[in-house]
Amino acid sequence: MNWSDIYWRNTLFFIGTAIATVVLVPWYIWTQGLTWPLVAMFVIGSAGTCLSITAGYHRFLAHRSFHMRPWVKNLFLLFGAGAFQSSAIWWASEHRRHHRFVDTEQDPHNIREGFMHAHIGWMMNKSGPTSRMEFAPDLMADKWIMLQHNYYVPLAIFMGFIVPLGIGFAIGSPMGGLIFGGVARVFFTNHVTFFINSLAHTLGTRPYSDKQTARDSWVMAFLAFGEGYHNYHHVFAADYRNGIRWYQWDPTKWLILSMSWVGMTYRLRRTPPAEILRARLQNEQIRLVHYGMSPETVAALKHRVEEAQARWRQLKEDYRTVKKDVQTRSLDRLARMKADMKVAKLEFHLAWKQWSVYRRALASSPRLAPSYS
Ligand SMILES: [Zn+2]
Ligand SMILES: [Zn+2]
Repeated sequence: MNWSDIYWRNTLFFIGTAIATVVLVPWYIWTQGLTWPLVAMFVIGSAGTCLSITAGYHRFLAHRSFHMRPWVKNLFLLFGAGAFQSSAIWWASEHRRHHRFVDTEQDPHNIREGFMHAHIGWMMNKSGPTSRMEFAPDLMADKWIMLQHNYYVPLAIFMGFIVPLGIGFAIGSPMGGLIFGGVARVFFTNHVTFFINSLAHTLGTRPYSDKQTARDSWVMAFLAFGEGYHNYHHVFAADYRNGIRWYQWDPTKWLILSMSWVGMTYRLRRTPPAEILRARLQNEQIRLVHYGMSPETVAALKHRVEEAQARWRQLKEDYRTVKKDVQTRSLDRLARMKADMKVAKLEFHLAWKQWSVYRRALASSPRLAPSYS
C-alpha cells in the first residue's frame, strides 16, 4: 500500500465515525440512559437517509426507473446529503460505472479485488478513476443536482449533524441527538449501503444470471431497504422494484409506489413478467444442461413453461378487454373466459413445477451444486 494513495478525508471520516459510535453510544447509555425520543431519532433518521439513497440517489438518479416531481427530488437531494455518501451526481455516476463494468478492473468496487476493497477500501484510495462524473452527463444538466454537488460538504454537515443537534436541543439532550441522530446513524446507514457492494456480491443466490457476482439475499434486502435482491437488480436495473414478489421485503419499492398514488412519482418502470421468466429460464437452462440433463429435454421443458405463461397472460388480457366493453360482454362469455384463464394458469403452474423439480433435484446434488453456489 502506498501512503500517498490514501484518500485521507474519507479514511479519517470512516474511522472517526466508527470509533465515535463504538465509544460514545455505550458511554451515553451508561451515563445518561436511553430514551425513546433518541431511539426514534436513530430509527427515523436511518430510514429517512437510507431511503433517500435507495429511492433517490439509486433507483431515481442512477437508473431513472421512474419519474419524480422536482420538489420531491429536491427533498431527496437534501436528505440524501445527510447520509454522507457524497453528492448525488458522484454517487450515481460511480454506480452506473459499477453496473457497466461489474466484476472487471473498471468496476469501482470490484468484488474480485477483495471484500474490504468492495465494502470501503475503494473510497479510501485516491488511485481510482480521475472523473467521478463521466457517467452522468444527464444529471449535470440539472441545476439543483449541481447545487447539491457544489455545496455538498456544508449541506451534509448541516443535515447530518446540525439538524440532529438542534432536535436534540429541543428534546433536552443535544449530545444524545448528535450521537444517535448524527454519528451512530451515519455509521449505520453508511455500512448498510456499503454491504450492497460487498455482501450482496458475496452471499445469496443468482436466479437471473450466473454471469456476474451480484446475488439475491432476503437478509440483505431486510437490512438495506430492499436493495438485497441484487442479482435481479443487475439484470433489470431499469425496474423500480428490486424485490418483484409482493412478499419480498422492499420498502423502497413500497415508498415509490405509494408516492405515485398521490402524484409525487409517476411512470414507474416494471420489467414485463415474460422477460423476467425468460432470463430465469435461460440462466437455469445452462445449469440443467451442466448438471447432465439432455439439452433437447431442457429446451422442450423451457418452451412449455414459456408457452403456458404467454397463453395465460393473453387470456387474462382478453378477459379484461371484454369485461370493460359493456356493449358486447355477456355473463356467459365472461364465465367461459374465466374458466379458460383458470385452466391456463394451472397449465403454467404445472409446467413451472415440473421445471422446478428438475432444478431442485439437480441443484441439491452435492457433486454438482458447488460450481453454482
Ligand atoms: Zn452491484
Ligand atoms: Zn443499481
